[in-house]
Amino acid sequence: MILPGATLGMLGGGQLGRMFTVAARTMGYRVIVLDPDPDSPAGRMADEHLHAAYHDDWALEQLARSCAAVTTEFENIPAETLHRLAEHCPVRPSASALETTQNRIREKRFIRDIGLATAAFEVVEREEQIAPAMQAIGGTAILKRAAFGYDGKGQYVVENVEQAVAAFRAMDGVPCVLEQRVDLACEVSVVVARAEDGESLCYPVAENLHRNGILDTSIVPARVDEAVAGQAREMARRLADALDYIGVMAVEFFLTRQGELLVNEIAPRPHNSGHYTIDACVTSQFEQQVRMVCGLPFGDVRLLSPVVMVNLLGDVWGDDRPHWEALLKDPSAKLHLYGKREARPGRKMGHFCVLDPSLEVALERGRTILSRLAPGG
Ligand code: ATP
Ligand code: MG
Repeated sequence: MILPGATLGMLGGGQLGRMFTVAARTMGYRVIVLDPDPDSPAGRMADEHLHAAYHDDWALEQLARSCAAVTTEFENIPAETLHRLAEHCPVRPSASALETTQNRIREKRFIRDIGLATAAFEVVEREEQIAPAMQAIGGTAILKRAAFGYDGKGQYVVENVEQAVAAFRAMDGVPCVLEQRVDLACEVSVVVARAEDGESLCYPVAENLHRNGILDTSIVPARVDEAVAGQAREMARRLADALDYIGVMAVEFFLTRQGELLVNEIAPRPHNSGHYTIDACVTSQFEQQVRMVCGLPFGDVRLLSPVVMVNLLGDVWGDDRPHWEALLKDPSAKLHLYGKREARPGRKMGHFCVLDPSLEVALERGRTILSRLAPGG
């Protein structure tokens, strides 16, 4: 076990790294963050911030020399970086888990190969593959770039071959998957923690509402049958087992109108839809990441109250800043800001949670607060 007082390395300086850093430092660990941005949200919370590229020799030497273990908040860390660090200390999750999940082609094949369902998909690496792929999907599809997509970026809804070709060209012909557009009843996600000995534990299932391809609201517990929730947890654990995953990861699912649960994607890190765990569970997903990285026992994942999490995008800032009073005057609302200097439309600036014994009340209150935060609201 790596005990408090030890130094942990975090690859990536975004808000997920920031919340990990807070959890780790709260427990008495030192944290070094590596991120090229000199003003990164996590870097400013850390004991030390190396602002260098993820493959920078000097920075990796510093991490190797100081860290008892290294983890990540960002799936696009080069595998080579993880391999190099793994020669010196435990790196959790592993380079291979990241490699599988950072590319949609590898990820979807992996999910299918272990026998779990996904939306129908075809690989598109060359323009000639588009017509047969559209034919095979047969209906409205979504062309998604295989690597470096997030928050719905790098995705085009396409109705026919012409539109798919135009979308492929708009993405400069990078490798893509063409995916059937699913008739959604709802979307849910599961955060799962898995330890070195193979034991795993799932958090309560979250129901996720998206707006413009970006997560908007998570509702916990998800308003789905317990059978569906149980199936989602079971599938998340199977995926974690098959990846031989150590750490905290999340699985996003589509629930179709026919009642079928499809795996959308895997995030090899804590997840936006798991932020509710900070305010509403005994152990947050970030403390759990610390525990898994350090080889400590699991923390209790019990939900203490129904909760609704609402993301705060840069849009809410307008030309100035949100009307914070509207949120702060509600004693059941918990504000989290990530310390990003510039509020741009679509940029995740923070989130808030509303806790109430009634999920419906929490949801209504979250809606009201959000509408009052925006200038003019
Ligand atoms: P993130 O990493 O932020 O979750 P992403 O860019 O990786 O986003 P996806 O999860 O693939 O994107 O898609 C974003 C959202 O777009 C989904 O949560 C869902 O609402 C919608 N969407 C994506 N693919 C499909 C599909 N095949 N059918 C129906 N809706 C879809
Ligand atoms: Mg997604």
